[in-house]
Amino acid sequence: MDIEKLQETARRFIDERDWRQFQTLKELAINASVESNELLELFQWQEGKDIDKKLLSGEDKATMDKIKKETADVFFSCLAIADHAGFDMGKVFLEKIEELEKRYQKDKVKGKVVKIPSND
Ligand SMILES: [Mg+2]
Repeated sequence: MDIEKLQETARRFIDERDWRQFQTLKELAINASVESNELLELFQWQEGKDIDKKLLSGEDKATMDKIKKETADVFFSCLAIADHAGFDMGKVFLEKIEELEKRYQKDKVKGKVVKIPSND
């Protein structure tokens, strides 16, 4: 399914509930942050490699289900922001990847953890 279709689905969901009246970019950005933190909370106080082992082996399906749902919440929030602001999430995402490819040139960063400051 393409991003445009998903963005339309988010728009339909919002409009069918008449929730647009409560939405501003500020409220939607706050929501995106809250949902991101709900995802992050699932990992709180656990060692990264331990939780990866439990989740990726299928040992902890309940938590993996929560991760899927919180990730979908974050994605929905991003689509709602894009729709409210009137931009095409797919197009902006591809532009961002292009920017990252220039900043993190594969021949310079491959296999390395680096942080290259952005210009914005
Ligand atoms: Mg959530």
